[in-house]
Amino acid sequence: MSEKSVLVIGAGVTGIQAALDVANQGIKTYLVEKTPSVGGHMAQLDKTFPTLDCSACILTPKMVDVARHPNIELLTYSEVKEVSGAAGDFTVKIETKPRYIDATKCTGCGHCALHCPVEVLNDFDENIGVRRAIYVPFPQAVPLVYTIDMDNCIECELCKNICEAEAVNFDQESEEIEVNVGSIILATGYDLFDATKLKNYGYGSYDNVLSSLEFERLLSASGPAGGHVFRLSDGKIPRRIAFLQCVGSRDTEHGMPYCSRVCCMYAIKNAILAKDHIHGGCETTIFYIDVRAFGKGFEEFYQNSQIRFGVKFVRGKVGEIAEDVDTNNLIVRVEDTETGQLFEDEFDMVVLSSGLVPSQGSAEINKILNLPIDQYGFFEELNRISPVDTKIEGVYMAGVCESVKDIPDGVGQASAAAMRASLKAI
Ligand SMILES: Cc1cc2nc3c(=O)[nH]c(=O)nc-3n(C[C@H](O)[C@H](O)[C@H](O)COP(=O)(O)OP(=O)(O)OC[C@H]3O[C@@H](n4cnc5c(N)ncnc54)[C@H](O)[C@@H]3O)c2cc1C
Ligand code: SF4
Ligand code: SF4
Repeated sequence: MSEKSVLVIGAGVTGIQAALDVANQGIKTYLVEKTPSVGGHMAQLDKTFPTLDCSACILTPKMVDVARHPNIELLTYSEVKEVSGAAGDFTVKIETKPRYIDATKCTGCGHCALHCPVEVLNDFDENIGVRRAIYVPFPQAVPLVYTIDMDNCIECELCKNICEAEAVNFDQESEEIEVNVGSIILATGYDLFDATKLKNYGYGSYDNVLSSLEFERLLSASGPAGGHVFRLSDGKIPRRIAFLQCVGSRDTEHGMPYCSRVCCMYAIKNAILAKDHIHGGCETTIFYIDVRAFGKGFEEFYQNSQIRFGVKFVRGKVGEIAEDVDTNNLIVRVEDTETGQLFEDEFDMVVLSSGLVPSQGSAEINKILNLPIDQYGFFEELNRISPVDTKIEGVYMAGVCESVKDIPDGVGQASAAAMRASLKAI
């Protein structure tokens, strides 16, 4: 091998941190991300618990750093296709999909999207907002290069005609490169539990039952409504919002016995933020089994949510949600396990605190690497005192692909994985 090098797969906050830490040691780093932009789920969040820092404000500088770093080769819209060799000498084939845009010419001006006649749901906005067939997933995307979504493009060529930079190229093809690296870091993150599996909550049938990530996008200033919270059924402002905990977590019936660790805190965060975002006020109630406030500043955050912001807590797992067909309001049926009382309450909106599951992207990369996984699909650590080592020498991991964790824990693990990977980058 001619130079020390490391491959990082997945460019959420964890992969970004790992890539920066490796590259800052003077080691050549390939950062591969399957979507058009780096950022992962953190880019979708409005604020982060327990400090309520603006998510984009702390993440965007790191996103820009990976794109500008002289030692990082950023390969977005790309996937690893083949890995061979062993620690210290892996050969990796990476495919970059065609954006149909010349990245060296695109200025990110967005004129093309203003003229594109095709509107489709934006999956970055959890399909609440829309984008054009030529798009960037969100305004702070890195790289700020547009992509044509050929599944929806009607090839009218309006974008091509309007683009002064002559960046649109319908003949672009996928490209494959082969790189030689000493070690690999996996940072392939998570997907949200699919709440349509729980028929009793009506998710997917009732417009005003939202997933937590949908609610994050409603809260976000760069989201589909500029941070204004509204009901999807009629656009009205919700005045009573319920948050349901442990949806697809601690649920043996649906094969999801583990605790997703971040949902208690993100629900408290969003219950506070809803009050802040909704002019004229709103009441927020969290239905929980027990509140797990284990991290730094979490217990204080939980206490403050009640004392300072008036968030209500009801101990009890909701059995069922029914919809009032006239108002699209939601009737929540629950047993208060503190009083033993069964009761119903009506809300304008319900937000499901869905659990985190291993990503489809982790399963895809594991078809190539064939790493041991646990019973849920998270990558297994070598042993309990080697939490970033996988069972293949030279392959490390960080973030939620290993187990559910919050951002600070994922970033800490990223720095550890970067150190371990750097030692093998010879
Ligand atoms: C609603 C909600 C709110 C939350 N709020 C907070 C909060 O306030 N504070 C907090 O600390 N935590 C919060 N979390 C948790 C936080 O989102 C995660 O801890 C963090 O985003 C995990 O980062 P990650 O990089 O490990 O994974 P991800 O963000 O999932 O990133 C993984 C990246 O890898 C890419 N990828 C996947 N597979 C492949 C592949 N095969 N090839 C190439 N690329 C691939 C993905 O496209 C993605 O970009 C929240 C979670 C949810 C669901
Ligand atoms: S493709 Fe052309 S019009 Fe569209 S953002 Fe890039 S430079 Fe602007
Ligand atoms: S060619 Fe496709 S991407 Fe370009 S404007 Fe027409 S529909 Fe939109």
